[in-house]
Amino acid sequence: MSRIAYVNGRYTPLRDAQVNVEDRGYQFADGVYEVCEVRGAQLVDAPLHMERLQRSLRELRIRMPMTLAALLVVLNETIRRNRVGDGTVYLQITRGVAHRDHHFPPDSTPPAVVVTARHLDYGSVDALAAKGIAVITVPDERWARVDIKSVSLLPNVLAKQAAHEKGAKEAWLVDREGYVTEGSSTNAWIVNDQGEVITRQVDRAILRGVTRTVLLKLLADRGERLMERAFTVAEARAAREAFVTSASQTVMPVVRIDDWTIGAGKPGKLALALRAAFHRYSDFAGNAKISKEIP
Ligand code: PMP
Repeated sequence: MSRIAYVNGRYTPLRDAQVNVEDRGYQFADGVYEVCEVRGAQLVDAPLHMERLQRSLRELRIRMPMTLAALLVVLNETIRRNRVGDGTVYLQITRGVAHRDHHFPPDSTPPAVVVTARHLDYGSVDALAAKGIAVITVPDERWARVDIKSVSLLPNVLAKQAAHEKGAKEAWLVDREGYVTEGSSTNAWIVNDQGEVITRQVDRAILRGVTRTVLLKLLADRGERLMERAFTVAEARAAREAFVTSASQTVMPVVRIDDWTIGAGKPGKLALALRAAFHRYSDFAGNAKISKEIP
């Protein structure tokens, strides 16, 4: 079955889908994106993703291309047309198409919208989680506003490639003071000797992951001791457990950081328990809620 993309008002076979060469996303990375998990053909945690999307757009002064309800119709229709049961949906909104000039185009310029959806074999993600992944550490060379989910991902791409070339699945980005900010496409967590769960506080140095937000609720419900603060690479090496979170991986155990084995070199107990419980805390009804509440 050929895949379908939504591009600026049209559903087109992915192989024919095109954007204008003067799309500011293409020329300047002047746009934002979201990746949502899809389970049983349902968007997972749609309200949190939509909230973050609106914030990213606001921070960059790009307007919403359509109402939230309309956007959800497009996301769901793209899922349906691609017959995605379990997978991900990708949404990108850029400042639109205009003559190449750094300053913003006229206000009348419509934002450009692309949506794609694809199947993901969550069985193989589970198999990976049963073994745990290796991560490497690299300097965080990104700009100072990575709390905005901008499509400008070059440092993330280079970090992920560096990980790939070392046989690792993720790169943890380390700031100038030696603290881990986050992964190239995940949030980073450790569990220390005292059993305290540590993840960096949300500020401008990390993306506020939707999975992170949901996991905080789960941790609170379990009565785990949580510290939202920066941790160093040395602390991470000495951790009892480590894991990363993202929409498509939920909770993914980390068993190696550079040349250091974490814990017993096997996924940590807490990480696996959090992974197993995660979807009980996901919002599968958000779709309907947004459509009802927002005209
Ligand atoms: N940090 C970065 C840099 C990311 O790209 C992502 C994935 N979008 C995350 C964290 C995790 O966010 P989420 O849980 O919303 O997928």
